Amino acid sequence: MVPKKKIDSILTGYDKDDITVATLCSHSSLQIFHGARKAGFKTLGLTVSHNTKYYDAFPLAKPDEIIKFRDLDEIDERVGELHDRNAVVIPHGSFVEYMGPKKFEELEVPAYCNRAVLQWESDRDMERQWITSAGVAMPRIYTDAREIKEPVLVKYHGAKGGRGFFIAKDYPDFKMYIDNTQPYTIQEYVLGTRYYMHFFYSPFKEDGYQVSRGGSLELLSIDRRDESNIDELYKMGSYDDLKKHGLYPSFVVTGNIPVVIRESLLPKAFDMAERIVNRSYELFGGMWGPFCLETIVTDKLDFKLFEISTRIVAGTNPFISGSPYADLIYPGMSTGGRIAKEFRDGLAAGKFIDLMT
Ligand code: AMP
Repeated sequence: MVPKKKIDSILTGYDKDDITVATLCSHSSLQIFHGARKAGFKTLGLTVSHNTKYYDAFPLAKPDEIIKFRDLDEIDERVGELHDRNAVVIPHGSFVEYMGPKKFEELEVPAYCNRAVLQWESDRDMERQWITSAGVAMPRIYTDAREIKEPVLVKYHGAKGGRGFFIAKDYPDFKMYIDNTQPYTIQEYVLGTRYYMHFFYSPFKEDGYQVSRGGSLELLSIDRRDESNIDELYKMGSYDDLKKHGLYPSFVVTGNIPVVIRESLLPKAFDMAERIVNRSYELFGGMWGPFCLETIVTDKLDFKLFEISTRIVAGTNPFISGSPYADLIYPGMSTGGRIAKEFRDGLAAGKFIDLMT
């Protein structure tokens, strides 16, 4: 990992009145650039093979400049061009996935995140340790498949984008479909409603919902993912029948739908998020900025947290002009806009450097 000292020395050389907000041209970049432009920052798109003509269709979210790289490795060789522009990068899901968490950790450009979080997020066992030791409930894990007595979700390690999971109703079902050549985990299949809650934690904001370690927690929006083909498969009959025809459920994300949760669930949601933030500081020096708690609410109105995304998620994209939650804090503000506001506040308070690793 790039030492924090190195990042600090790069930032010390930056002209703080001329910061450029940079990110990879994909995922939530429209929202990030739109928010940064509104806050008066210069914007820089980083691209490899992406077709960037689509930005012409959205002038208010088009970056001021685009740098095209041969491949993502070439960013490393050309970091000087980013330093010359006083650039800080905003990690998003695709940025970290395309680059790989290891390479992202080594990128010698200030990044708005704690890079130490990447390891805790990308290793499912470490992530589970973080969540459960924070006192937050997760779906049960089976270490012995013979104990499967209820529907489970089998997740192959490294399965990407919801492809490569399968549902087994019992042990015989599991045995029939398991591919033992790949590592996997077996998780209780939680029957309930999925909510992907987009939080933002500011370590130095002094009003709003204060967390016990200091700083302020905000809920900016909530989405539910559209997942193909699981969301529609029920229309075609029972899973067992469909399996005979070679049709299996997949969880590939194809879009996002805005949702709100019943108001009585909000205290539990904030309690969970606060625990996760507090524990992140105890374990690895903290998680700040945008993050998403991926949850399922059962009919007993209990949350089960199955994953944390430690950065801006694409589920925030329906909320470019605000959300039913953001509008009660910052009317009309997106998560991208909130990031830019944090930069402005950090610069004004002399705490901008603390936000970067
Ligand atoms: P993940 O890759 O862990 O984000 O999971 C992909 C999708 O699988 C989620 O968006 C959910 O729809 C579903 N999912 C994951 N874990 C569970 C679980 N334990 N029970 C039910 N559905 C799950």
